[in-house]
Amino acid sequence: MTLTTAAQAAYIVAALLFILSLAGLSKHETARSGVVLGISGMVVALAATVVLAADGSGALAVTLLVVAMAIGAAVGLWRARIVEMTAMPELIAVLHSFVGLAAVLVGWNGFLQVELGGAEGGAESGGVAGTLLGIHHAEVSIGVFIGALTFTGSVVAFLKLSARIDAKPLMLPGKNLLNLGALAAFAALTVVFVASPGLGTLVALTVVALLLGWHLVASIGGGDMPVVVSMLNSYSGWAAAASGFLLDNNLLIVTGALVGSSGAYLSYVMCQAMNRSFLSVIAGGFGIEAGPAGDRDYGEHREITAIDTAGLLKEAKSVVITPGYGMAVAQAQYPVADLTRKLRERGVEVRFGIHPVAGRLPGHMNVLLAEAKVPYDIVLEMDEINDDFATTSVVLVIGANDTVNPAAVEDPDSPIAGMPVLRVWEADNVVVFKRSMATGYAGVQNPLFFRHNTGMLFGDARQRVEDIVAAL
Ligand code: NDP
Repeated sequence: MTLTTAAQAAYIVAALLFILSLAGLSKHETARSGVVLGISGMVVALAATVVLAADGSGALAVTLLVVAMAIGAAVGLWRARIVEMTAMPELIAVLHSFVGLAAVLVGWNGFLQVELGGAEGGAESGGVAGTLLGIHHAEVSIGVFIGALTFTGSVVAFLKLSARIDAKPLMLPGKNLLNLGALAAFAALTVVFVASPGLGTLVALTVVALLLGWHLVASIGGGDMPVVVSMLNSYSGWAAAASGFLLDNNLLIVTGALVGSSGAYLSYVMCQAMNRSFLSVIAGGFGIEAGPAGDRDYGEHREITAIDTAGLLKEAKSVVITPGYGMAVAQAQYPVADLTRKLRERGVEVRFGIHPVAGRLPGHMNVLLAEAKVPYDIVLEMDEINDDFATTSVVLVIGANDTVNPAAVEDPDSPIAGMPVLRVWEADNVVVFKRSMATGYAGVQNPLFFRHNTGMLFGDARQRVEDIVAAL
């Protein structure tokens, strides 16, 4: 058996490990082994790639590969170690942009190899003689298109998630026509490129895709960003699969398809949870028109102190805590767990209501609460708790905003209209922990803060919860 055959066999093993890893990640109990299987698959894949390079291209290629891997691994380890949990979606968006950029470079390389090296050079990149040359050029065009779109889309997602640009949707006039026009231009340029491959056509195609990626994500509003992150995950998978075809690398095709399809499915599930049209979101907010500006006057809000909140809790029969992004920022989960223990010792029923997109990544709140050792059985999903608010004495909204906004169900003009939310306002008393009257991630004012049964407890959530624990 030659080294190349052995490496190809290792690729199949790695692909199987990736599939088993995905299966493991689908349940709490098996998630840890899923991660281990994924890491093992990646180690096998990397080793096989080095062996393939050594067998086919010699010492210089291996040296370049090892140096590149060492630099990538060092940067990756450094970033992953220092990243805050709240900044994970931004990091993921940046990583997706690298996949997109890599696909563009692979596509351009595929084109230049054929152009500069003739049929011979091309043959190295996967046997591209005669009619196969047409297929090769179609692969270049599709790979560059998906890659460039993923690249700029991910850059915009990063800028929005890290609040470097406004999270509000960009509403260019005729935005749907612009998107459709860009798709039509891509199709036309691909036909021209396959018929007579030229540098100018590929440059034009790349520019169209870069602009389309930028526009698609810029057109999507803050509240829909979770779906965008998962959609870009899917795009990056398809970009990798396209590179796999160009490089004639089966593992890249299989892995890309796994990432592409699982990302698409996750986006679909999230759209269902948020009552959004899947097609509308992947088409850059297709069919969503700008609502009127949300500067409506809701009247005065009422403030409450930590001591008064402790008084309310002492009297309460049942308490529901709905955490959000602010709990993660303040790292308030530990005092929240203390408060929960104290109240339960006093015989108060305490439960948590978790919105599917609370925080900044799916499962964010569950991870934080598990970290602080809050028992799983009192942490409920939105659908499990929503009907119980009407019979709840006190709801503590800790750093949540968009996910408890009544405008989503009551105001059809709201940018988050139609998104299911936790109906906290139905409880007898609501206490909202935040630092100011600022809006949440979607940039929409929250009428909950002005309701007669809502008290605003201003300050850092961790500090305020500790004050309540002390007062109890
Ligand atoms: P929001 O982002 O809507 O609001 C967070 C609130 O926390 C703000 O109102 C802020 O108010 C408050 N806050 C921030 N820091 C502190 C602190 N130290 N102490 C007290 N309060 C603080 O939170 P939600 O979790 O309700 O909603 C999540 C939003 O993020 C949704 O729009 C969702 O679509 C989006 N999103 C979700 C993702 C996911 O996968 N879960 C991914 C990307 C986006 P103030 O500044 O006044 O303190």
